[in-house]
Amino acid sequence: MTMTEPSSSSSSTHRRNGATFANADNSDGNGSDDTQRQNHYNDNGTSSSDSTSPISHSNNSFQHQLLRTIPLLLLFLGLTIFTQSFFLSRTAVDVRSSCDVNSAGNLLANALGFDDMEDVAYLRQMGWLSDGDSNNYSNSNTNYGCWVPRRVDSMAILVVDALRFDFARDHLPLSVGSRLFTDAMGDSSKSKDGSSSSKKEKGLSKLYRFMADPPTVTMQRLKGLTTGGLPTFADITGSFGGASIHEDSWVEQLKDVPWDRRRIRQQLHYSTLSSQMEEAGANAKDGSVRLLQVSARPQLAFVGDDTWFDLFPNQFDDCHPFPSFNTRDLDTVDNGCLLHLPRLLDGLVGLKPEMKKEERENTNSTTTKPSYELIVAHFLGVDHVGHTYGPNNPYMERKLHQMDGMLSDTLDAIDNAPPQSCIVALVLGDHGMTEDGNHGGGTSDEINAGLFVHFSPGCHYHDDMGNSGVNGDEFGAHSARVFDAIHQIDLVPTISLLMGLPIPYANIGGLVPDLLPSPRSNHHASIESSPPASSSTPHIATALALNAAQVWNYLYTYSKRSRDLPKDKMRELKEVLDSASSVYRDAISQSKQHTKLAADDVKDSHDSTAYRQASVLFKLFLAESTDLGRQVWTQFNEGGMKIGIGILIAAWITTIPLWRRSIRNVLVREIFSPMPRNSGSIKENMKGNEDGLMFFRRMELMTSTIFMIFYCGVLTFGNSYIDHEREIITFFLSVLCLLVFFRWYFTASSSAQSSLSSDGSSSRYLPLVVALCSRANDLLVTGHGMDPSIRLHAAHLPILFLLSLVVLMILRIKWLGPSSSIMTTVGGVGSASIEIIAVVSLACSWWDKRAMEHSRTGFLTARIAMMAVFFGIFQSTRSLYRQWRLSIQYGLKDVDGGSNIQNTQVLLFRLMLFLVIVTGPSAASSAVLILIQCATLRQLMDASGTRQLSAPTLAAIWRLAIRHAFFATNHHCSFNHLQFSAAFVATNIFQFHIAGMSLFMNTFGWEMLGSCLLLVYSRSRRSNNNWRESSLQNRSNNDVWDWFLFFQWTEILASCVSVRMMKRHLMVWAIFAPRFMFAAIFSVLALCFGVVNVWTVERIASSDATSTIAQNVQI
Ligand SMILES: [Zn+2]
Ligand SMILES: [Zn+2]
Repeated sequence: MTMTEPSSSSSSTHRRNGATFANADNSDGNGSDDTQRQNHYNDNGTSSSDSTSPISHSNNSFQHQLLRTIPLLLLFLGLTIFTQSFFLSRTAVDVRSSCDVNSAGNLLANALGFDDMEDVAYLRQMGWLSDGDSNNYSNSNTNYGCWVPRRVDSMAILVVDALRFDFARDHLPLSVGSRLFTDAMGDSSKSKDGSSSSKKEKGLSKLYRFMADPPTVTMQRLKGLTTGGLPTFADITGSFGGASIHEDSWVEQLKDVPWDRRRIRQQLHYSTLSSQMEEAGANAKDGSVRLLQVSARPQLAFVGDDTWFDLFPNQFDDCHPFPSFNTRDLDTVDNGCLLHLPRLLDGLVGLKPEMKKEERENTNSTTTKPSYELIVAHFLGVDHVGHTYGPNNPYMERKLHQMDGMLSDTLDAIDNAPPQSCIVALVLGDHGMTEDGNHGGGTSDEINAGLFVHFSPGCHYHDDMGNSGVNGDEFGAHSARVFDAIHQIDLVPTISLLMGLPIPYANIGGLVPDLLPSPRSNHHASIESSPPASSSTPHIATALALNAAQVWNYLYTYSKRSRDLPKDKMRELKEVLDSASSVYRDAISQSKQHTKLAADDVKDSHDSTAYRQASVLFKLFLAESTDLGRQVWTQFNEGGMKIGIGILIAAWITTIPLWRRSIRNVLVREIFSPMPRNSGSIKENMKGNEDGLMFFRRMELMTSTIFMIFYCGVLTFGNSYIDHEREIITFFLSVLCLLVFFRWYFTASSSAQSSLSSDGSSSRYLPLVVALCSRANDLLVTGHGMDPSIRLHAAHLPILFLLSLVVLMILRIKWLGPSSSIMTTVGGVGSASIEIIAVVSLACSWWDKRAMEHSRTGFLTARIAMMAVFFGIFQSTRSLYRQWRLSIQYGLKDVDGGSNIQNTQVLLFRLMLFLVIVTGPSAASSAVLILIQCATLRQLMDASGTRQLSAPTLAAIWRLAIRHAFFATNHHCSFNHLQFSAAFVATNIFQFHIAGMSLFMNTFGWEMLGSCLLLVYSRSRRSNNNWRESSLQNRSNNDVWDWFLFFQWTEILASCVSVRMMKRHLMVWAIFAPRFMFAAIFSVLALCFGVVNVWTVERIASSDATSTIAQNVQI
């Protein structure tokens, strides 16, 4: 007997399997029972080599398990390598730009090849560079500043999260609108100002389209806005954890640069001035206040979205972060901002001029009252209204109106600042939002944010503000476009130079010349050699030259460290830079001569076209550098991707189930057995004969193969397919189920002789149930989640969710209730009581949440429900583990099968209740449908005889049904659509682990449950009276799991290939990359189940098998 023959390796086992099976085939299924049993056990993937010696059995089994794990490990390896190469992260260069004396001069000399340091000295002398030794310049009128003279005293950055360009343009009439269109509407200064100063000078404003780089996620945008770098997509994973910035940024520079290097000259001047004024006791309105500020360094203040706090935990002196994660919370962050902003503004602009003298004396603590040189306020309401209600909703109107009022007040405060101080306000959106209120991708709605810049009247930017004279016209339309487009990272060098800081080391943005007018000339002490204020072009050319030198310096350093930057591109860039710098040097030498020759007529000599040309060339260089950075750093490691795909292909090939000979034989028989010759018409075939059966089976097999090739392969290549994935799945599922239904219906007569003839004729409608459940689930799709906006959805009606919960309980008790055989192990009737507690408190919780009353949150009852569920999960896990140990130890036959499955089902049911809790009322109805669907699918798996389904078809149906549950619960393969409300079911406070687990289970729970259920069903053994039939059945069910996994591997392989091919596609960050990420997570889940299967489930199966064999042999 072959059974006792020792087999040394699994390959030989397989060979023998095939041989014996072929033998069985030849005899057309009439082989001896012994052979059949032999096949059955071998095909379980277990070794049956030597039932009498347990040691060699376990050895072989171990080897076999190891062999089966290798492809899984390979898949994991390939996927990891691919993912890391696709989401290539930029190497962070941990160097800071310096504010030392001569730092700017050295930078210019090194990067632009100034061989003559005299030029640099000349730039300093003219006041275009300010990096000289401050002692030497203390008597000249050069403003302080690290590289170029500082332009503004203080800055207010008001981030309105998700402020789309059209929001800023059309929906902020009081603040932005009134300032933009003052000329058109005449003097629009408000009456309340008019009383104090009727001709109050208004500052200058401009609105820009502000382009964000994808991924348009707040944290990545803030990183870009402060460092000037391009964050890569991989950073998204840090979105929840929060990683502080390690690269150079202007926030850090503001904090670290020595104050005396960049303080403002005027303040020094005032300090002396005001001391005299104070002595005189005159109305020292501003001077006395400013005097006190001079000695101390002003502070940095922040209020709003705590993302800033995550990024810059130590940099802000006055920090008020508010939690940002709960998108249903529309007001907490904004109210916090509104609370702190007035005080911060006071510190920013100095005390208001209207303030009475007594008041000021009362607040004698002006010495301790902080003054600020930068305040950041990050408002989050617009973004959250977008996520919760979408952009076209009354809530949004209300929120924008609130923002408008806030901005209007803030800008008025800045306009009313003491006339000597120059304050700039930047109102900006970090990204836009799509028409459904989300963001993250690269569509034009998402990347077009608004930027509104407002300078206080004290900046004296005259009429040429926004018209720096350098606009790129000199070199035609292309260069003009370069000047028009403002990217977010372009703001970084602009902010730095405005504040007299060095540009952050890793910045690749290009200065916006419009926003950097000439430095203020000193109004109070006119010093002879002062360069005239109107000649702004040399200033701008110098600033752009420094910016270009800094970018080149960074790129050059980076190319030394890493090979990301292509050599030829760097050479091209260098050429552009060289030509720009030669024009610039010519311009310098020209004006040097002019200065010597005609000292009186300096004004014109500096305003030469040479400076303009140099500016344009530098700007072009900067634009090209940004492009290069964008190409290199938001992109990919080709080699790594190829290796990853190669490994994946190798692993994929080894996992093709057809390599297992038994599966192949079944398939070959299905496909290639001769068609009946008299197959005249389909109608004839439908008559319940064997030929008709064959025809139908072949149809099913073909259809499911085609569908799976499409779903797992082709679909990942088309963005419109990905958009409509749910519809595609529903359609495929319906077609497959209909096919099965037709076969069952029309071959019903032949089933009379099959063993399952006892099945009533009603059971032939089972396949339709699967399809109908999916259809019904589709109706609920928009009702999932717990956002207030969907409370009116039908699924949230109390009658519906209460009914669903009741049905859920009935199903639980009827289907999974204690049967007499397992009373002892599970613990009897009490097992269902946990679920009943959970469901009742859940119903109360939802009822409370529906009430729309603020006090009734339903948190307590939700917590009780969760506790009950967790306890239940713990209990069933424990009993399952015990059983597992028992099966491993003794190979107990009576514990296997039924009760194992029963326990697992109870465990999964409890897990499902957790999903229902974190999803919301609609999930109860979906759960009922999905439960019915799964039960039906199990019936399909159990169907035998003429009704039996082939393994690939079953696997396809399972695959589609499980994935359908993901989409039908309103999930999408996109990070924008995560149901964040899941994190706030039982609490208002954000706790990373609880929120993360809730969100993860909410998103991937159905896939996990479905896969687990399929694993259990496919590995469970049915024993009915007909030994042969049930063993065939079991083998086929085993194969279902293998096919199911194989479909998943196909999907991930196709996803990798598709994102690699689509990496330059417009939609890559919006659609393909998220789809890939989700496929990768699904695959990792499947990998886990695959490993669990090999190492635990099959061990049970094998021990069970040996014990059964032992029994059979004895018989
Ligand atoms: Zn944002
Ligand atoms: Zn958002």
